[in-house]
Amino acid sequence: MNNMINSDRTLIKDILDKSLDLQVLNLKEVSALIDLHDREVWEEVYDAAHRVKEKVYGKRVVLFAPLYLSNECMNDCLYCGFRTGNKNAVRKSLTVDEAVQEAEFLSGKGYRRLLLVSSEHSKRTGLDYIEKVADAIYRRTDIRILHANTAPMRVAEFKRLKAAGIGVYQCFQETYHIPSYRYLHQTGTKADYASRLNVMDRAIEAGFADVGMGVLLGLYDWRWEVGALIAHSRRLISKYGFGPHTLSVPRLQPAEGSDVDFDTYRVSDEELKRIVAIYRLALPYAGVVVSTRESADLRDELLSKGASQISAGSRTSPWGYIEKGDTEQFEIGDNRSLEEVIAKLAAMGMVPSLCTACYREGRSGEQFRNLAENEKMKKFCHDNALLSLKEYIEDCCSGDVKEKLEKLLKAEISKSSNGLINKMKLVEQGKRDVHS
Ligand code: SAM
Ligand code: SF4
Repeated sequence: MNNMINSDRTLIKDILDKSLDLQVLNLKEVSALIDLHDREVWEEVYDAAHRVKEKVYGKRVVLFAPLYLSNECMNDCLYCGFRTGNKNAVRKSLTVDEAVQEAEFLSGKGYRRLLLVSSEHSKRTGLDYIEKVADAIYRRTDIRILHANTAPMRVAEFKRLKAAGIGVYQCFQETYHIPSYRYLHQTGTKADYASRLNVMDRAIEAGFADVGMGVLLGLYDWRWEVGALIAHSRRLISKYGFGPHTLSVPRLQPAEGSDVDFDTYRVSDEELKRIVAIYRLALPYAGVVVSTRESADLRDELLSKGASQISAGSRTSPWGYIEKGDTEQFEIGDNRSLEEVIAKLAAMGMVPSLCTACYREGRSGEQFRNLAENEKMKKFCHDNALLSLKEYIEDCCSGDVKEKLEKLLKAEISKSSNGLINKMKLVEQGKRDVHS
């Protein structure tokens, strides 16, 4: 802390203590973290972020995969491979049957939670289509919860999306900087900044207690974006009693047909680590999600800086799991399979989780926030994560990885109650979706 004056040191210490007490930070405190340059102090901030994550979520890391439904888009976001301006794109929208086949493929690998991702095309990817896809996946596969990152809707449409069984509605503001937003989204429905900004209010008013937010890092100065995202989250908390269920950290990737200068607002690896830690400390209860846009090594590291959820084994093109797929949205940085990611998490002393219990039990919104902030969440989560891992071991895994995971389970079960041991036996006997 040599090059910091004492008052700054005290301020940072107070901020970290407040986060460790699981309180939401105010904008002055967030700004102090954004402005912090001392590397030595950053090590303390990372340590606090990791401790906050462990206080709320314990050692578990939630795993999921995106299921891309379509790359046919009527918008022209300059950074995206699916934009109308990408004239070389090979376009495809999955049929409902194809979406089920992709979901079946993923459930065979062990996933139980999928994020439906879709471009925006009124004829191909409208709400009727998404309802049919969700209904068919729930009826015909072992997938237990679907989240959606799809085009913003009106309240009445969000009500239907919720009724279709979607758990989290996710939508990224992309950038809060209005001139940049206008430049990057010149045509189509997404050109309306205010409508995008109010999407979470509409989703919440329609009954979504869990919403996922984020900015696309690399479109504008990250310091501005991070402050704005936390300000937006705080506004939702004061209005509804809860804010985002998750904050994602998508970082701009090269994409076919992209027309964005990559370097002007490039976010370095070091800055990304700081952003993850700031999100964790600013909203202690929220999940912080890292996608396969990032490399394997960086993703592993971000887990010790406050990240709590990661996608794994992802493809970003429709039909990308069963075959190679057509035009992908952006390049992927971590090509490891789910099994490889699970093995690595276990080796790092974490508990990989394929659990969906909160959605089965209706723990969402304000209730979720209260449980998380009162440190009650990790008790459910730890046992449920172990039960989901047991299912994975029984159904999807073999050889060396199976052996390692069995060892991990044995060690964790030895510290647990009889209740958990009995539930494990039920899974061994073939019962599925056992949770508390
Ligand atoms: N079409 C909907 C929308 O734009 O909100 C949802 C799906 S879109 C495929 C999901 C997100 O991908 C976008 O919100 C954007 O942040 C992100 N994205 C687009 N192009 C990207 C790129 N080149 N690199 C990284 N992420 C990108
Ligand atoms: Fe379409 Fe979404 Fe890509 Fe924009 S970000 S071009 S809306 S898929």
